[in-house]
Amino acid sequence: MQHALRWLLAGLFSLTTAVQAMTAGSLSADYYQQIKQTGLDKPQLTHSDIAPLLQLHQHNPLFRFKQLGQSALGTPIWQIDIGTGPVKVLAWSQMHGDEATATAALMDLLNFISADQQQPWRDNWLNKVTLRLIPMVNPDGAAANTRFNSMGIDINRDAKALQSPEGRLLMQAAKDFKPDFGLNLHDQNRFYAAGDSNKQTTISLLAPAFNDAKDIDAARKKAMQLIGDMADLMAEQLPGYLGKYDDTFSWRSFGDTFAGMGISTVLIESGGHPKDDNRQVARRLNTQLLVMSIESIGSGAYQQQSLSAYQAIPFNRDGGIKDVLLSHLNINVNGHNAKVDLALDLDLEADKIARIRDIGDLSIYGAYHQLDVAGLSYQAPKAYRLTKALTLDKAAYLTLLRDGYSHFSGDAALLTNNSGLPVVINPKGLTGKTPQRYRLATFLLRNEQGVQRALLNGQLLDVSSGKLLNPLGT
Ligand SMILES: [Zn+2]
Repeated sequence: MQHALRWLLAGLFSLTTAVQAMTAGSLSADYYQQIKQTGLDKPQLTHSDIAPLLQLHQHNPLFRFKQLGQSALGTPIWQIDIGTGPVKVLAWSQMHGDEATATAALMDLLNFISADQQQPWRDNWLNKVTLRLIPMVNPDGAAANTRFNSMGIDINRDAKALQSPEGRLLMQAAKDFKPDFGLNLHDQNRFYAAGDSNKQTTISLLAPAFNDAKDIDAARKKAMQLIGDMADLMAEQLPGYLGKYDDTFSWRSFGDTFAGMGISTVLIESGGHPKDDNRQVARRLNTQLLVMSIESIGSGAYQQQSLSAYQAIPFNRDGGIKDVLLSHLNINVNGHNAKVDLALDLDLEADKIARIRDIGDLSIYGAYHQLDVAGLSYQAPKAYRLTKALTLDKAAYLTLLRDGYSHFSGDAALLTNNSGLPVVINPKGLTGKTPQRYRLATFLLRNEQGVQRALLNGQLLDVSSGKLLNPLGT
């Protein structure tokens, strides 16, 4: 009898775990589209993007708003408390001003929580959890589209010195609220791969260390267990695109400092995804991870996780993803033929100049644009000199490219480009007889029939059809 009972309980337990693993949270990708806040699908979010939304939500009795303080330049920083339960969760976003993905997710989360249909869901946790949200810790950096605050301080290296008003506000919030869990929401660069795979790390997670030895105390263990639940959600929603952030102890950082204060801290980093410049995939996953975390923390379900789920997450591989990979290009040096792959960096944020970053066997890398140019050979760039006014339509431009001209030199004012295609004028740092690292990604590709493709500042053009094969912005 006792044996049978134990068997029955074990059966029920594994069924419950299986159901949890299968559903991985109450916010489906489909339903997300209904609660997704409009107007935030952009590369940069500032306080003026969220201020009207916060103003609307302030009227909702579910949310308790308080102005926590203001940034160095006087922009308000808000906190929003939800629920009354004993387990306290602090989530903050955009302490790096140019990392806005999770701020949009917090706006989505407010929509989800306040949706009429979600009353049964809310009732499950509102008396178990108190959630405190601080969206956009660094509004001045957000306005300037920079990582730093208006003093040039990296707020996330200011947890000990506390010289930035924004850092002081965040520390004071943690000391007043005494959260059990901390959710530290950031963006990471788009070049991380998930472990040895060639897939982008669209989300990376970390339970930050609180010492150099990376010891695991009770609080860090809970953070790791919650990440185990997050890994289940990722495996269901976007398998293969999850990585673990560098776990080196960072003494000056908030996550590591909070971990040292006994807060179970989880770092969530939003990353790139193919054809997703504004990181809307990572935004949805953030919202789903937040919804699931509230449930799991409220019910205590995360405590069923072993640490192996956390340990199984592959580390981020820095530089594992390239903007553009051209595979199998023929080159010739002094009579030596070789077949090489080229990696290009489009440098979208800075001077918008595309450069060659790597040459050789690059099969271990993934890319946002992967283009096979097998059968084509490198042809050095050559200038078409502008001596009189030239109005360029598409056909004329394609003819020039087929004639072996890759770019223009001389007085740029003489050229009127009506081709709808990118032109390169007076470039500095061109390649020579062969492609070279850090030189410009502007040259031609040919076979016995002549020039077939033109690489124009990193964009590959089919010179027969006039079609761009990797248009920027996709
Ligand atoms: Zn960051």
